[in-house]
Amino acid sequence: MNPATRRCRLYKLTNESGHPSGLIMQFQSLATHGIRTINVMSSPGAGKTTLLERTIARLRGEMAIGVIEGDIETSADAERIETAGAETVQINTRGACHLEAHMIRAALKELDIAHINLLFIENIGNLVCPSEWDLGEDLRAVVVSTTEGDDKPAKYPQMFAVSQVMIVNKLDLLPYVDYDVEKVKRQALAINPQLRIFQVSCRTGEGLDAWCEWLVTFANGKS
Ligand code: MG
Repeated sequence: MNPATRRCRLYKLTNESGHPSGLIMQFQSLATHGIRTINVMSSPGAGKTTLLERTIARLRGEMAIGVIEGDIETSADAERIETAGAETVQINTRGACHLEAHMIRAALKELDIAHINLLFIENIGNLVCPSEWDLGEDLRAVVVSTTEGDDKPAKYPQMFAVSQVMIVNKLDLLPYVDYDVEKVKRQALAINPQLRIFQVSCRTGEGLDAWCEWLVTFANGKS
């Protein structure tokens, strides 16, 4: 984690409303339980929920996954995740464009964390504000897709600077769109040379084996 991000974390955790020391304790408790947490961010429609559905299906029986679903309105995504087989809590922000750490703390009370190995937080679809709020996660993953244009890292550099993983989704649509995957990778790596990149199609399953294999090592604390 770079120094700027670390400062961001300290700032957010000690300035959120409520009981900041309790929040820090909560995330220390997650680590003590052996739970690793990934904050999943993207623009609307890049495929965060579908990626989680496919991931949960592939890792069923291998690890217990919990999901905190962030949406401005509706519980549609939480219902999809529950159907996929993961314990889920929905947060509706009623207009707020990002999740904040105190929302995560409240949601965690609804999850049976004793039985979870890997916790996903699906953030609000937005490439700007979610990058500015630390949720106490171990890792940030940004999802981009071939339908949204190949200029996103250059236009929204902060999101790619604070993420450790980038997932390029909807590879199956490449024959139908003007999208240069190599250009996106070059842009993203110029901002963040440490970024780990996966290329997938949640529709066809392409690339999901590599993503899930890496997730298992991450959840076991090896990545
Ligand atoms: Mg979603």
